[in-house]
Amino acid sequence: MSSAESILIKNGYVITMDPKRRIIKDGAVFIEGTKIAEVNKTEQMSYKTADIVLDAKNMVVMPGLINTHVHLAQALIRGGADDVSLVDWLKNYVWVLQGNFEGTDGKVSAELCMAEMIRTGTTSFVECMIHTRYGFNQIAESVKTVGMRAALSKIIMDSTGYADNDDIMYHGMVEDADTCLKETDEMYKKWHGAGENRLEVWYGLRSLGAVTPNLFKEVARLTREKKTHMTMHLGEVVDDVRYVKNNYNMKLTEFAQENNLLGPEMIFAHGIHFEDDALDILAKTKSNIAHCPASNMKLASGFAKVPQMLQKGVPVSIATDGGPSNNTYDMIREMRLAALIHKAFVKNPLVVTAEQALEMATLGGAIAMGIQDKVGSLEVGKLADLILIDLTSLGLTPPENPVSNIIYSGSGQYVDTTIVNGHVLMQGKKLLTLDESDVRMKALKHSAELLDRAGLRIDPKWPIE
Ligand SMILES: [Zn+2]
Repeated sequence: MSSAESILIKNGYVITMDPKRRIIKDGAVFIEGTKIAEVNKTEQMSYKTADIVLDAKNMVVMPGLINTHVHLAQALIRGGADDVSLVDWLKNYVWVLQGNFEGTDGKVSAELCMAEMIRTGTTSFVECMIHTRYGFNQIAESVKTVGMRAALSKIIMDSTGYADNDDIMYHGMVEDADTCLKETDEMYKKWHGAGENRLEVWYGLRSLGAVTPNLFKEVARLTREKKTHMTMHLGEVVDDVRYVKNNYNMKLTEFAQENNLLGPEMIFAHGIHFEDDALDILAKTKSNIAHCPASNMKLASGFAKVPQMLQKGVPVSIATDGGPSNNTYDMIREMRLAALIHKAFVKNPLVVTAEQALEMATLGGAIAMGIQDKVGSLEVGKLADLILIDLTSLGLTPPENPVSNIIYSGSGQYVDTTIVNGHVLMQGKKLLTLDESDVRMKALKHSAELLDRAGLRIDPKWPIE
C-alpha cells in the first residue's frame, strides 16, 4: 500500500458533503496520516506542500462511495444468471455456483470485486454473507492488504428455505446455527478492528425462511453484546410478506420487532415490500435500508418506497448487490439509477434528486455502517476516504454542475484516484494495491473451473459461429 505521512490535493472542485454541503471551487484537502487536517480554497491553505501532492485541476474531489450491500463471491459468477426469476436465479444458478466454491475461489472473487470497486470510486463496503466455503480468513486478509474499509458479515442460517419456499437451498450452501455462530465469534475475535480499524465483523442473517426466530433473537442479542452490526435481506420479494403472514400472522416490521431486529445496528437489504405504515417504525428505530435499484429491476423485485422513506427520515443508503443481479459494482451507475427510477415510478421529477442520491451513497452509507462520525464527508478530523473524478471527458462536458454531472452523466470509468484511510489505492486510474492483470487472469481461470465443477455453462442466447 502506498503510504505517506501527508497528502495535499489541490486545485480541485471539492464537494465536501459537510453540514452546509459546501462545494469549494479551486479547493484543496490536506491529509495528515489517516485523517483530514484541512479543507479550504487552495490559495488559502495553511499547508502548502506534502509528501505527496496531487493536482486535482479539472477534477472533483469528494468523499469515497459506500456500498452497503455487496456479495464479494458473486463477482466470479458475473453474468451467471440473466433474465430469470429470483427463486430460479438462486436455486438453479447462484447457489449452485456459490455452493461449489473451493480453495482460493473466494479470495479471487473478492479481489476481482475490490479491484472493480476501487476503480469505480468505492472506499467502504458491507459484504453481507460470507459462507464458510469462501474462506473468511483469506478474504479478510485480502481486504486488509488491499486497503479498503469493510464490514465482513459471516452468513447466518439454520434452515434451508427462502421466504415461503421450503427446503430449496443447494446442499453445498447449507450451514447449521452452531457452526455459523462459532465461526462468527472466531472471526470477530480475529478480525474486528484489524487493518488500522478498517475491518469489522458483522452477522449476515441470510433471509426470512433461512433463519428461525430463535436464531434471529440470539443473533440480535449477540450483535448488541459485541457492539457490532447485522444485516439481512428483507422484503426483497413478496414471498417474504406471505411468509410472515402465513406463519406468524404478522407484517414484516412486526416480525422484525418481535425478533429484536430493528435498530441502527441493522441494514435491511432491498426493503421493497414494507407496508406503508412500516416506514414510520423504520424511521423511529433508525433501521437502515440498503437500496439496490439495479438488482431490484433486473430481478423484477419491485420498487422500494425510497421517496417516502427519505421524506419520513428512514436512513437509506445505496448498494449494488452482486455480480449476477446487477451486474456491476459501480456505485456511480447505481446512484444514477436511484435518482432516475423513482421519478418515473411515482411520476414526479422532484423526487430523489441528484443531491439526495449522492447523500445516500456517502453520508447514508456511513450511517448504515455506524461510522458517520468517521467518514462520509470531507471535514477536518474525519478519516481520509476520498476520490478524485476526472471532469475532462466528453461525456462530462460542460461540468458547470459537478453533482449533476456525476449522478446523471457519470460512471465509475471517470474515477481517477481512490484514497482510503490516507492511503492511495488508485492513482491516475492505476491500481496500486492489486495487480489488475493478475486479478483478471486468476478470475478467468477460477470462473471457468467453477462452472465446470458446478456443471453449468454461461451460454449467450444467440448462436456463436
Ligand atoms: Zn443480496
